[in-house]
Amino acid sequence: MERSLLYYSTNLKADKVTFSQALLKGLAPDKGLYLPESIPLISPADISHYSKLHYYEIAFDIIRRFLIGEIDDEDLIGLIKDAYDFLIPLEKVFDRKYVMRLDQGPTASFKDFAARMMGRLMQYYLKKENKKLLILTATSGDTGSAVANAFYGLDNIQILVLFPRSEVTERQRKQMTTLGKNVRILALDAKFDDCQSLVKQAFADPDLDYLDLSSANSINIGRLVPQIVYYFYAFSRLRLENHQEEAIIAVPSGNFGDMMGGVLAMKMGLPVRKLIIATNENDEFPKYLYSGEYKKIEPSRNCISSAMNVGHPSNLARLVALFGGMMDEKGEIHKPADMELMRNELYSVSISDIRTRETIRKAYQNYKLVLEPHGAVGWAGLMEYLEKNPELNLKDQLCISLETAHPAKFPEEIQKLIGIEPPLPKSLEGLDDKHEFYEDLPNNYQDFKEYLMAHF
Ligand SMILES: *Cc1c(COP(=O)(O)O)cnc(C)c1O
Repeated sequence: MERSLLYYSTNLKADKVTFSQALLKGLAPDKGLYLPESIPLISPADISHYSKLHYYEIAFDIIRRFLIGEIDDEDLIGLIKDAYDFLIPLEKVFDRKYVMRLDQGPTASFKDFAARMMGRLMQYYLKKENKKLLILTATSGDTGSAVANAFYGLDNIQILVLFPRSEVTERQRKQMTTLGKNVRILALDAKFDDCQSLVKQAFADPDLDYLDLSSANSINIGRLVPQIVYYFYAFSRLRLENHQEEAIIAVPSGNFGDMMGGVLAMKMGLPVRKLIIATNENDEFPKYLYSGEYKKIEPSRNCISSAMNVGHPSNLARLVALFGGMMDEKGEIHKPADMELMRNELYSVSISDIRTRETIRKAYQNYKLVLEPHGAVGWAGLMEYLEKNPELNLKDQLCISLETAHPAKFPEEIQKLIGIEPPLPKSLEGLDDKHEFYEDLPNNYQDFKEYLMAHF
């Protein structure tokens, strides 16, 4: 096999590792995040060729470049085919403005794309090495269910999910708590950031070394790589043949895993004019982008796009690194990024709940487009960008906005705003009748540690 691509830590104090090591570790030992030493490039000819390929074939061509020397092609394509057995609708809204619906997976959120691939890759490497892992993950709603579903029933992996009791919807909760088997769920009277902080403390605790902990949060490089693929996929399906063009892409963002997929896609050669990072009222990133000064928001603000209630995006350190800077895990900047370049490639906007609701209403009124709160933040970001840049607001300009969850996951809000009940996708049917299993945990590290030591 060829020499492996190596991965470095954004804190620059840990040894470089291979993909499988980075995947099984999650966080680097210096608390940094892993990034590939060099970014694979995809040529315009290859991108044109993607128009003729299935999703799984595009996924194979992209993912394989990050796993050089780490897995046989045949094994990899098997895992990918098995992970991506659902549709990815590209819904035309008007002119060449599209919504990409990433909500057809088993838990009806875009997180299925990453979780399903990561689960399969982890199982592959664990089996090979005859090892076991305990996955600890904090969720603001969708990660927990996507990860729990993707890893449910795997032999070598146990899952423990922490969630903030009042920040997830009933449906989101039931998607995690009705599984059982190798999946355990803990409810905390806390915020998502508190749950994340407990998980991080456990990782750093030498008393827990014996547990072989890993993370399935978007800090794991195994979550990131699969999220590059659908950007290329959408472009390959929507681009005009024999034309050189650049797309404008809008991503509703919280922990920035999704948008990092987009940034990596751009760095690999995807022709993107602007990547729009739309946040909810947690506006630490747009402020940073335009001032160069970063201040996290503590505690994070509660918005209706609850999976994006993040006051300090855990992937931000990766973005800063890709633009030549260095940010540590606490959000301190040790070396400034090239902010001018960043502003050139990215646009960022914070969308209030009022605007989110207005967007859901208007999108339905004007285009019969059904958005849920997260996708509405992205769409509102795109609309604002086009308004502010009339020179790009052209009929022919290709624009793609990501819809990250199925509207049926937010039935009350949608019903209230546009008076329809979005039909439940098959994957969410029957949840109400299932038994829930979960335990309560106080929001403090000592209790969490004792729980871990008692149960694993
Ligand atoms: C997690 C999530 C997001 C935010 O994605 P990040 O990768 O954390 O930026 C957006 N929408 C939905 C529905 C999500 O579940």
